[in-house]
Amino acid sequence: MGFELDRFEGDVDPDLKCALCHKVLEDPLTTPCGHVFCAGCVLPWVVQEGSCPARCRGRLSAKELNHVLPLKRLILKLDIKCAHAARGCGRVVKLQQLPEHLERCDFAPARCRHAGCGQVLLRRDVEAHMRDACDARPVGRCQEGCGLPLTHGEQRAGGHCCARALRAHNGALQARLGALHKALKKEALRAGKREKSLVAQLAAAQLELQMTALRYQKKFTEYSARLDSLSRCVAAPPGGKGEETKSLTLVLHRDCGSLGFNIIGGRPCADNQDGSSSEGIFVSKIVDSGPAAKDGGLQIHDRIIEVNGKDLSRATHDQAVEAFKTAKEPIVVQVLRRTPRTKMFTPPAESQTVDTATQTDITFEHIMALTKMSPPTPPVLDPYLLPEEHPSAHEYYDPNDYIGGIHQEMDREELELEEVDLYRMNSQDKLGLTVCYRTDDEDDIGIYISEIDPNSIAAKDGRIREGDRIIQINGIEVQNREEAVALLTSEENKNFSLLIARPELQVSLLPTREGASVVLKAIVESLGLQNTA
Ligand SMILES: [Zn+2]
Ligand SMILES: [Zn+2]
Ligand SMILES: [Zn+2]
Ligand SMILES: [Zn+2]
Ligand SMILES: [Zn+2]
Repeated sequence: MGFELDRFEGDVDPDLKCALCHKVLEDPLTTPCGHVFCAGCVLPWVVQEGSCPARCRGRLSAKELNHVLPLKRLILKLDIKCAHAARGCGRVVKLQQLPEHLERCDFAPARCRHAGCGQVLLRRDVEAHMRDACDARPVGRCQEGCGLPLTHGEQRAGGHCCARALRAHNGALQARLGALHKALKKEALRAGKREKSLVAQLAAAQLELQMTALRYQKKFTEYSARLDSLSRCVAAPPGGKGEETKSLTLVLHRDCGSLGFNIIGGRPCADNQDGSSSEGIFVSKIVDSGPAAKDGGLQIHDRIIEVNGKDLSRATHDQAVEAFKTAKEPIVVQVLRRTPRTKMFTPPAESQTVDTATQTDITFEHIMALTKMSPPTPPVLDPYLLPEEHPSAHEYYDPNDYIGGIHQEMDREELELEEVDLYRMNSQDKLGLTVCYRTDDEDDIGIYISEIDPNSIAAKDGRIREGDRIIQINGIEVQNREEAVALLTSEENKNFSLLIARPELQVSLLPTREGASVVLKAIVESLGLQNTA
């Protein structure tokens, strides 16, 4: 909006007026079609209408508007009356100096700053009013008992009553206290949340550390198993455990009269035919790049059984040498070759725990569940891998202990849902879940897990815990225990999808095995145990 025309002496040049507000241009902007308007007039128009306010043709956007600096400077040189002329200011200043004058103008409006007054006066009068005239100005403290500040108005009218003043004062303090309480509660809630998340992060990091330790342990176990098997391979007698013997038929051709390998062994003497000595003929050395070294050739430790159909399994050393010397090309050799059994490298069963942990989609709860499995007694770890002698979680730090202390006070009604899929190989396998109602709360008709058989599918999976509530089984809302039992023992199902609920961060609140039997009555259908019990 422009400046009012009556604030200028005499007539204002029409070229300095805005075509929208018809006042003197304030911060003029020009359109590409050459029209000039105040910035405050033209911008809202263009944004809304997308055209020039002078009804020129064509679209117009705010970006196409430009400042007209010479025009602006011309306008700033005009003389203008102070905006507070009506309040008594007689100053006329250059438009350029107007903001500076308004900052200091004695006739600008100003509000009394005494609480309870609120009068608006001229700036030049406000100090005197507050000092000498204002009824709300303080005049010292009450001497009649209450000691509260007195205002001039109260003193003059004799309207002060200590009891009333104290009540009002008390009310104000109460209100302030209430507000502070509210703020404190809010802050405590925020801090609690933050603490919860930090503790969770800490526990997750701790568990990550344990997982890493377990992974190293697994690797270590693998390597030592492999070392063991390799050293057994080296030390074991022919046909020893841990190896399998394959029968191979190879074809050799002499190269410059040589087959390119040496043999050892053979029965000590040809007369001894009783079979008590079973020492055979073995390849002891293979000449590099000789005929026997080629692909599909011999390997050191191969046992020679036949050469061109001649049985050497019970031959003497000399008989075997002779057989090779006299054999006609192509020389067909049948050998027994020992190879290590692959299963020797399978790491021990504890690796299963580690595999679960190395899944990429580990949830926090999942990790928490894993901590509940105590790791199997580990072999002594390489000291470079783990500084502690024993990598068990509970020796570093037990997150359950820590969280337990803090979260006892947390809202136990917050439920966390988890979907757990269990799979059984055949219908005889047991899930190992025992279900029941709770007896400490008659109104709660939920179905709870009271026990998990330690050797069952559910225990190996590890996600379901004692005390969890079953909400759904394979998408069916569980209404009562009988129905849950029927669904869980159904012979047709191999896959079980259980939707379970537990108080959030319940890890710390989990009943122990003993606690569970107190809280949860064992009117129990022993699923998975009913045949084995
Ligand atoms: Zn205007
Ligand atoms: Zn225009
Ligand atoms: Zn003024
Ligand atoms: Zn006042
Ligand atoms: Zn008083």
